[in-house]
Amino acid sequence: MKLVLLGPPGAGKGTQAAVLCKEYNLLHMSTGDLLREAVKNNTAQGIQAKAYMDRGDLVPDEIVAAMITEKLKNEDVSAGFMLDGFPRTKKQAEILDQALIELAMPLDRVVYFATKEETILTRLTGRRICRSCGRIFHVTNIPSKKEGICDGCQGELYQRNDDKEETIKNRIKVYNSQTKELIDYYQAKNILQQVSGDMDVNELFSVLKDTFKKSGLI
Ligand code: AMP
Repeated sequence: MKLVLLGPPGAGKGTQAAVLCKEYNLLHMSTGDLLREAVKNNTAQGIQAKAYMDRGDLVPDEIVAAMITEKLKNEDVSAGFMLDGFPRTKKQAEILDQALIELAMPLDRVVYFATKEETILTRLTGRRICRSCGRIFHVTNIPSKKEGICDGCQGELYQRNDDKEETIKNRIKVYNSQTKELIDYYQAKNILQQVSGDMDVNELFSVLKDTFKKSGLI
């Protein structure tokens, strides 16, 4: 199964990607996670990307596209993959098309998470991430058992710098001006599936599993 998850920040793409990839043994590729890792490790790409990320702007296409094409060529994607947060511009979508043609691995589907702005704001302002394993929590929707501590690995939970209100507003603006047009791009290729990003985690997970099964993707 070769999928792209498309939608605004806070639509729940990362949370669904984590559970779906575990369930179906898919390679999870999140450009946001890869970039945060690069920033943490002070790599040349991370140093270049940091200022864009702190503002909530998009990192230049060449940097993110190189991260993904490299992974697609070098990792085991025989069971399939899930792209989460990539592509985010038409240019990135075209680079991805080309890379997948070369690998003879066309996309099966692009799942678009249509999400209300109020859901986005509530999700992002309350989101907390485990510093050690990256697991995603939410102060009210997916609370950890012990406040500030990851249920899985006992790591410390933190709030992403770009999950502060001002940056969130810019990220939504950037999504509307640069990423939203990908809905039409993939609609025209007949591979777009729309779901509601307003559903809770378990509800959406079972809707997705159901539709994948019905359409023979799994
Ligand atoms: P995310 O974790 O997907 O919300 O991404 C966090 C930040 O990383 C975004 O606000 C961008 O600054 C950057 N980023 C992630 N994916 C991309 C992408 N495909 N293109 C450009 N910038 C990206």
